[in-house]
Amino acid sequence: MDFEFAPQEQAVLKEVRAFLKSEITPELKAESLAIGYCYGGELGRKFVHKFAANRWLVPNWPEKYGGMGASAMLTFAIKEELAYTMPLIFVAAHMAGPTILHFGSEEIKKEWLLPIARGEVEFALGYTEPWAGSDLSALKIDAVGQGDHFLLNGQKTFNTHTHVADYHWLATITDPDAKRYQNMSMMIVDLKTPGITIRPMITMAGWQTNEVFYDNVKVPKECLVGDLNQGFYYLMAALDYERMFPLGHYRRLFDEIVQYTRDTQVNGQPLSRDPLIRQKMAQLSIELEANKLIFFRLAHIIDKGKIPNYETSMQKLFATELAQKIANTGMDVLGLYAQLKKGSQHAALQGQIEHHYRWSVVETIYAGTSEIQRNIMALRGLKLPSK
Ligand SMILES: Cc1cc2nc3c(=O)[nH]c(=O)nc-3n(C[C@H](O)[C@H](O)[C@H](O)COP(=O)(O)OP(=O)(O)OC[C@H]3O[C@@H](n4cnc5c(N)ncnc54)[C@H](O)[C@@H]3O)c2cc1C
Repeated sequence: MDFEFAPQEQAVLKEVRAFLKSEITPELKAESLAIGYCYGGELGRKFVHKFAANRWLVPNWPEKYGGMGASAMLTFAIKEELAYTMPLIFVAAHMAGPTILHFGSEEIKKEWLLPIARGEVEFALGYTEPWAGSDLSALKIDAVGQGDHFLLNGQKTFNTHTHVADYHWLATITDPDAKRYQNMSMMIVDLKTPGITIRPMITMAGWQTNEVFYDNVKVPKECLVGDLNQGFYYLMAALDYERMFPLGHYRRLFDEIVQYTRDTQVNGQPLSRDPLIRQKMAQLSIELEANKLIFFRLAHIIDKGKIPNYETSMQKLFATELAQKIANTGMDVLGLYAQLKKGSQHAALQGQIEHHYRWSVVETIYAGTSEIQRNIMALRGLKLPSK
């Protein structure tokens, strides 16, 4: 079967490609890379405002909330185009926003969806705590209801983007005495609220994630998302949205490695004639094609009105392990040159292999580790018993 977009959709994709070609500058790319592929930087915010003005940030949202009522298929294709040119992670538009659209009251939709669709606000994910990562039901951060506000005390860790985002998409415990899964609430907290302290943690790839401390922080009750104590279910849905990984930047890296094998001679022969290298590149091209099908299957499920669940785990796992294979293969193909950083005199492919080799480690950790994705597939996909 050969999949094609309708002529109208192809016209949009052509426009998107032309826009990205003219708007993405080396300075913008460098800024996005330095802050972990998020758009909280000055240039990034300007770029996203322009991009979103075309309704390309959330094309499949209804028009009244800033979308264009398009299919999730087109939305995913636009995400993939952007990732191929410059990866950017959108917490508000692609993780929290769809969850609000699905579960939020009309008031909360009116308050948040338009600014999100216009790219005016960005969120940071506030789930993990030092004692709760894979098992988020072990969260401890306290949110005690007091009159018109909640009083928050506790600690988060690995909360990426909190130093550049505007709001914290925060999982809190609002009823410590209730049973598991019935005790949690989701809130949208202004990161400038007094009592919040953000402390950097630098990853092995050089970008910053953070610890965030809440010390008697007053959060107005209007910041609650959906129903009180039902936050665990919203959090699970938001994780499903997060686990839809466009792989464009690794696809681009793969294309550049293939070109490198054509351009580079070793012992008087182009690398592209080396049988081992040809085998590796052919294998990766098969896996990239398989990932494309698994990725667009998620869009198909959304277009049918459902939130994909174990299917997102399948794609997240497949895509992120493939990302690591591409970086590892880059190491093999470029040999010792692959270890040189960008800016080094003899660095090949602008030091991208060295960078992606370090970066891709985290891909199989955040949004849930590979072990957790396999557990979800076994449990919810194959219906195997939990233990
Ligand atoms: C760079 C980086 C950025 C991050 N950004 C964010 C962010 O923005 N917001 C946020 O909230 N979180 C973020 N995270 C946190 C991330 O989601 C967690 O690190 C991840 O879910 C794993 O949790 P943990 O680190 O507590 O490990 P643990 O849960 O302690 O797991 C340790 C090991 O045990 C394995 N394991 C655990 N339980 C099981 C099980 N039931 N079956 C089999 N194996 C199991 C895991 O796979 C892992 O290998 C980030 C993490 C990193 C490293």
